[in-house]
Amino acid sequence: MRLYEHVANRIFSEAGIPMAGGYVISSPDDIKDFENKVVLKAQVLTGGRGKAGGIKLASDTNEAKTLASELLGSTIKDLPVTKVFVQNAFDINAEYYLSITVDRQSKQPVLLFSVAGGVDIESTSENVIKIPIDPLIGLDESGLKSALGSIVDDVNPFATIIKKLYDVFLSSDATLAEINPLALTSEGLVGLDAKIIIDDNSLFRHEGLKAEELLAVDLIEREAEGKGLSYVSLDGDIGVIGCGAGLVMASLDAIEAFGGKPANFLDVGGGASQETIEAAIDLVLKKPGVKSIFINMFAGITRCDEIAKAIIAKKHDVNFSIRLVGTLEDEGKKILANAGFDVFDSMDDAAKNAVEALR
Ligand code: GDP
Ligand code: MN
Repeated sequence: MRLYEHVANRIFSEAGIPMAGGYVISSPDDIKDFENKVVLKAQVLTGGRGKAGGIKLASDTNEAKTLASELLGSTIKDLPVTKVFVQNAFDINAEYYLSITVDRQSKQPVLLFSVAGGVDIESTSENVIKIPIDPLIGLDESGLKSALGSIVDDVNPFATIIKKLYDVFLSSDATLAEINPLALTSEGLVGLDAKIIIDDNSLFRHEGLKAEELLAVDLIEREAEGKGLSYVSLDGDIGVIGCGAGLVMASLDAIEAFGGKPANFLDVGGGASQETIEAAIDLVLKKPGVKSIFINMFAGITRCDEIAKAIIAKKHDVNFSIRLVGTLEDEGKKILANAGFDVFDSMDDAAKNAVEALR
């Protein structure tokens, strides 16, 4: 299980590693006034956010709010950004790469260190030094210092951080504990980015963290509740929206029957307005990885023209497969056809289309 950066940052801080502090926001209004500069960092579980536009530097509160509103609701490498870590910014004199991972070949932890840290570590693997760690003996401090001494002048601050990093690696049952970059600043070494991957086999020992990571999904369910929508998160990648619990259940089955996996259950109920359906589409898209949405509406007191307008208002980079029948069906279909959407009369045809859109 990969932890979100802000969680890994906190774990490193608690272990005594000097990390850039910060707080998490889910709305631009949550930005607090600040003096110098902050870095806004999209909380998505992928690397290379910097290059993908997920890291922004802001020098005043207004700029931070503007940038935060751009980041929130955007996608970084297809992952929706629902949270931003607002981190104190530093002027960087040098960037180092530091990690401890498991070396499968020697079957023991290995420390990786490079003076070429920052965003490009993958391309500079020849500059990385590797120091194996015998798990029965632990870190060999003198060996570590002499290895570091060949590439950095002041060995001690690095050695102190590495010892603490190894403590975290062990106590969190990690397969990777990484700080990249570890930056040299006017305040000394500061960890700017944090990454921890926990061995899934040990998750029973980390129930608290598991709950915290799942919160992101829980939050969608809670938000749905607040809007009177019943949303249940599932494992797959096809969003499902329908009216009436029975119809939504049948929609899930239809997706599975064609070999797809539903991302959620979402029942908008009867008589949903355009606004409600727009909120439903927003909710479904909050879940990372959803690229196809199956909308199955058997409209009774709901109106097909309202459904159609909602879909057009939320026209997005995802596939919509729509089955639309019932009240004001012709109007709804006309609106969608004019906007270039295919609409199906049969639930099976639409479900099949939603699955095939991902192939
Ligand atoms: P990643 O791209 O997902 O690995 O995100 P990082 O958190 O590592 O940030 C990417 C890059 O943004 C870093 O390598 C730095 O060059 C830059 N960056 C991050 N924090 C700061 C900061 O406080 N000050 C400055 N000047 N640059 C930063
Ligand atoms: Mn990084």
